[in-house]
Amino acid sequence: MGLSAKDKLYLLNLQKGFLGEKQFDKLLSTLSNDWTILNDLHLEANNTSFQIDSFGLHSESSYIFEIKNYEGDFYVENESWYSVSGNEISNPFQQLKRTESLFRRFLKNHSFHYTVEPYLIFINPEFHLYNAPRNPQIIFPNQLNRFMEKLKKKSATRTKNHLKLIEKLLSCQVQGLPYRNLPKYSFNDLKKGIPCSECQSFYASFLRKNLACSHCGHKEDVTCAVIRSIEEFKILFPEAKITSMIIHEWCKIIPLQTIQRILSKNFKLFGHGKSAFYVK
Ligand SMILES: [Zn+2]
Repeated sequence: MGLSAKDKLYLLNLQKGFLGEKQFDKLLSTLSNDWTILNDLHLEANNTSFQIDSFGLHSESSYIFEIKNYEGDFYVENESWYSVSGNEISNPFQQLKRTESLFRRFLKNHSFHYTVEPYLIFINPEFHLYNAPRNPQIIFPNQLNRFMEKLKKKSATRTKNHLKLIEKLLSCQVQGLPYRNLPKYSFNDLKKGIPCSECQSFYASFLRKNLACSHCGHKEDVTCAVIRSIEEFKILFPEAKITSMIIHEWCKIIPLQTIQRILSKNFKLFGHGKSAFYVK
C-alpha cells in the first residue's frame, strides 16, 4: 500500500532506530558470559512507564543503554538539541536521565540493590554533534570501540545472584504500544503477492518449486515463501482466520492447490468445507 510521506518518514525512523539497536546488540554479544543482556524492556515505576533499549547486568552493576542511530550533523545550544537545519529534537540525554531515575525507583520498589550506570550510545559513524557536552555518559561513534574494551575489562566477581532481578524484570514487562501510529489499512487496500525476501519487490512468477525474483535474482523455495507470507498476514490481520482461499488471494501467484498442500503439511485443519481454517 502507498504510504503518506509523513507515515513513511515515521516508519523509516522506527526502522532506523531498530537497526541501530541491532547493531549495538552485536557489540554487546562480544562481552563475556559474566554479562546478562536483556533487550527492549518495557517497565513501570510508580505508575509511569518507561523503556530500556538494552540492559546489562554485570557483577554488582546494572547498565542502561539508550541507543540512537542519528545520522548527520546536530548541535547543542543551552541544553537543547537541534538538527543542523535548526529543528529542535527531544533531548536524548534527558530521555536517558528520565529512564535512569525511573529504573532506580523500580529497583528500590522491588528491594534490589544494584548500582545503575546509564549510557547514551550514538551508534552511527555518520553522526556528529557540535558543542558536544563533555559527558562520560555519552558515547560517540568514535569512542565506541574503547567503550566496549572498558566494559570487557570489568572484573567478574559474580557476587550477586542475577537470576532474581532478571526474573523480576521479565515478569514486570508491560505491554507497550510501540506501533501506535500505524497507518490504517485493510485487506482490500493492500497489494497482493509475495515480496522477495531479499529486496522486497514482488515475485513475478512461480516455476516448479521456486520463486525467482526478476529484480535481484534471488531464488526462494515456495514453501518458505508462502509460510513467510502467512506469518506476515497473521501480523497484519491477527483476528482473521487462515483459509486456503484467503492465503491464495494473499499470495496471488501461487496456485490454490499448492497453497492447500503447504497449509495441510504445516498447519492443523479445523472444521469442514467452506468454514474450514488452519492453525499453526
Ligand atoms: Zn529480489
